[in-house]
Amino acid sequence: MKFESYWHDTAPVFGGAAEGPAEGRYDVAVIGGGFTGLAAARHLAKAGAKVVVLEAGRVGCGASGRNGGHLNNGLAHSFLAAKSELGTERAVALYRAFDDSVDTIERIVAEEGIDCDFRRAGKLKLASKPAHFDAIARNFEAINREVDPDTELLTAADLKSEIGSTAFHGAMLSKKSAMMHMGRFVSGIAGAAVRHGATIFENTPVTGHRTAAGRHELTTPAGIISADNVLLATGAYTTSAFGYFRRRIVPVGSFIIATRPLSQAEIAATVPGNRTFVTSMNIGNYFRLSPDNRLIFGGRARFSATSDHRSDEKSGAILRASLAQIFPHLAKVEIDYCWGGLVDLTKDRFPRAGFADGLWFAMGYSGHGAQMSTHMGIIMADAILGKADRNPVAGLAWPAVPGHFGKPWFLPIVGLYYKALDRFQ
Ligand SMILES: Cc1cc2nc3c(=O)[nH]c(=O)nc-3n(C[C@H](O)[C@H](O)[C@H](O)COP(=O)(O)OP(=O)(O)OC[C@H]3O[C@@H](n4cnc5c(N)ncnc54)[C@H](O)[C@@H]3O)c2cc1C
Repeated sequence: MKFESYWHDTAPVFGGAAEGPAEGRYDVAVIGGGFTGLAAARHLAKAGAKVVVLEAGRVGCGASGRNGGHLNNGLAHSFLAAKSELGTERAVALYRAFDDSVDTIERIVAEEGIDCDFRRAGKLKLASKPAHFDAIARNFEAINREVDPDTELLTAADLKSEIGSTAFHGAMLSKKSAMMHMGRFVSGIAGAAVRHGATIFENTPVTGHRTAAGRHELTTPAGIISADNVLLATGAYTTSAFGYFRRRIVPVGSFIIATRPLSQAEIAATVPGNRTFVTSMNIGNYFRLSPDNRLIFGGRARFSATSDHRSDEKSGAILRASLAQIFPHLAKVEIDYCWGGLVDLTKDRFPRAGFADGLWFAMGYSGHGAQMSTHMGIIMADAILGKADRNPVAGLAWPAVPGHFGKPWFLPIVGLYYKALDRFQ
């Protein structure tokens, strides 16, 4: 078994990073080379701005190259809950922004000719308990009536042609949802940004930041970059150099296993619908087929703030048990990959973007951000260029998480809470 992301292992390595010292003056410096930062850099460069991306590791080494490969439209939250928390207007705008974000990816893939198996597969939100189906049905009625007619409610009987498991009591189908090969999209969008004129430095962490005479100075081990504007696109990997944001983002591990390629008979017995699937438990699972027919099966598994070999292996064992519970016929299937990554949770699980503490920022996608990060990168690039404000979370209050200064010591307690909810709800 390989302890690395399947997306990293099966994508062409981006070879367009700049060499030499990271120095000079730029219109915009983007910190972080995930989807947020790369989409922003491509858009800024296309508009004629002199832009640099500073990435601590390799492009896509954060969540963008480690996720489940789903590009689901709409909100991960219940739409009814979002309406009561945000008000109808904002909840609808945010739902539509997630829809638009899948269109954004489809457009970039076509414009740049990125070979990443983008496909409008549709997503099934699966009810793990009968009561969950009732909640999904209520949510479906509001979504279908108010914001997304491209949805359908499926009963347990309807699910027979979609999934080879008796573990579910029905589902909501969101037809606009898509999937793609995340690693190939990372390399493709990074290459496109460079082609349009952006400079990307890899292995160049920003360790310090100050403003002098109205300009930003970013310190890295490879030199000092000066810029008129800075976009912070560091997500769950935000360091203590950016304390304001670190106090508002809780990094939580999410973990994935990938089986060996399944045979056509196994696919027909497992996921004949070939969609993206998400279960309704709080500590639930998400899965899909890879382009080479592996089952990519993920979940939070256990509430951990770390993703490293040891933590990924522990979580992988839990995921394997969940996989066997949902698909007993795959209980003994070989697992070829096991990896994890960090999700940038906000307290209310809604993303945040705007200008704070002297920096432009977009983050907090809370595990539902492969599509939205790309979209928000572009929206923030437009804001930096002084174009019309299309930010769907503009002005949303963002207090610091009480008691949180870096390491989320409270995660085991949160994990126990959700475990209890899953047992009794
Ligand atoms: C296991 C897992 C499964 C997921 N599954 C899905 C899914 O199926 N669908 C979905 O929509 N979303 C999913 N997500 C979430 C999604 O991947 C993220 O929301 C999205 O990729 C965030 O992109 P980003 O560019 O904002 O952040 P990232 O991709 O995390 O990029 C941030 C980058 O900033 C860099 N960085 C940090 N600090 C510094 C610094 N000081 N200097 C320089 N660079 C720095 C990091 O190295 C990193 O590369 C998942 C996430 C994980 C971890």
